[in-house]
Amino acid sequence: AEEREELSWELFGTASRELAHTIAEDGFAPDLILSIARGGLFVAGALGYALDVKNLHVMNVEFYTGVDQRLDLPVMLPPVPNVVDLTSKKVLIADDVADTGATLKLVRDFCVEHVAEVRSAVVYEKPHSTVKCEYVWRHTDKWINFPWSVLPPVVQRTGQVLDA
Ligand code: 5GP
Repeated sequence: AEEREELSWELFGTASRELAHTIAEDGFAPDLILSIARGGLFVAGALGYALDVKNLHVMNVEFYTGVDQRLDLPVMLPPVPNVVDLTSKKVLIADDVADTGATLKLVRDFCVEHVAEVRSAVVYEKPHSTVKCEYVWRHTDKWINFPWSVLPPVVQRTGQVLDA
C-alpha cells in the first residue's frame, strides 16, 4: 500500500492550536470563520475557540468521492451562505486540506467580491495546490487520513441528496 499521512485526533488538537497561534501572531483577527463542510467544520470549530471567534459560517462543497476520486469540478451545495452576512467582514476560510486547491478557489472567489479581507487556513497543503493558503500547518504530497473520515460510516446510506 502507498504511504499515507496519518492525522490522529490527538495530533489534530496540536495542529489546530499551532495554526491558531500562527494566525494570532500574524496579527490577523477575523470577524468570522467560514468553514468548508464537512472536513473544515472541525478546523473551524477548533480555530473558533482558540481565536475567540464565535461567528462561524458553513459552506457545503463536494468534490471528492473517494481516495483520489474526484468530480470534474467542485460544486457548491445548498444552503449557500448569505453574502449580506459576509459584507465588509474580515473572513478566515477554514478547511482540512488544500489538495488541487479547486475547492478553496471556489470559496475564495465567492467571498472576494463581498468581503473586506479574506485569508485561508488549512491543516495541510499539497505542493501542487493552485491556491496558496496564508496559514498552513504542514505540507505533504501524500493522501491524508483524517480522524473524522478514516473509518467508514456506521450506517450505509445510498443515493443521498443534500437538502432533498
Ligand atoms: P481540493 O479541492 O483542494 O482538491 O480538495 C479539497 C477537499 O478534498 C478537501 O477538503 C478534502 O475533503 C478532500 N481531500 C483532498 N485531499 C485529501 C486527502 O489527502 N485526504 C482526504 N481524506 N481528503 C482529501
